[in-house]
Amino acid sequence: AVALADVSKSYGGRSVVNDVTLEVRKGEFLAILGPSGSGKTTIMRLIGGFEAPDRGRIFIAGEDVTAVPAERRRVNTVFQSYALFPHLSVLDNVAYGPRMQGLGRAARRDKAMEMLALVRLDEAAGRRPHQLSGGMQQRVALARALANDPAVLLLDEPLGALDRKLRDEMQRELRRVQAELGATFIYVTHDQDEAFGMADRLAVMREGRFVQIGPPAEVYDRPANAWVSRFVGSAN
Ligand code: ATP
Repeated sequence: AVALADVSKSYGGRSVVNDVTLEVRKGEFLAILGPSGSGKTTIMRLIGGFEAPDRGRIFIAGEDVTAVPAERRRVNTVFQSYALFPHLSVLDNVAYGPRMQGLGRAARRDKAMEMLALVRLDEAAGRRPHQLSGGMQQRVALARALANDPAVLLLDEPLGALDRKLRDEMQRELRRVQAELGATFIYVTHDQDEAFGMADRLAVMREGRFVQIGPPAEVYDRPANAWVSRFVGSAN
């Protein structure tokens, strides 16, 4: 669903993403793990089209989107702050999400209701965001991000602001929704338990490169080198 081919990005002469190649399969849940400053967010911004690479190509759903602006890429992002429109109902928040404008009014509402049912908030469709709990608001944001059928959903620390209990609940919820839709998720988190527990594959990043990409069990049991071993806290 997403591919990066030899992608590099520098800021002011400092290399932040260094010749990265990555393939994310359709329906896959890939988590990017790495220390602060290793380039995780920059990778997301490159895929989303908010930054242009200095070198390399980016493909989404088989199309070379390297020169395609963010608003015309089939990519949505969910951040820690979910920024719902306070004056709109839950339904309208989802119906007026990014790039839903191409659809007619009725189709938009149908799609929005379908997505709200998916996150089990159809009963809250008429409410305003402030009448919902933080976890519910996050589910609305998820429904909104999925409503226009993105080829990939980028999630950058989406649960960072939630307390432990809600976080556990949302982890299950995200995983369930992703599986039900067969959606492609690229997920950045500092929480290793979260990454190991949720992802089909982990991409471990260090200083602008992926040092290991593989299923969680493989990364844990057969770390690519001593640094990965230390980073993920395995004994090897
Ligand atoms: P964190 O886990 O702390 O969010 P990260 O792995 O997501 O870190 P990035 O945000 O991708 O890392 O940043 C990688 C490096 O690039 C950092 O050193 C950062 O200061 C630098 N950087 C990112 N964006 C810019 C920018 N627009 N201009 C200059 N430097 C930048």
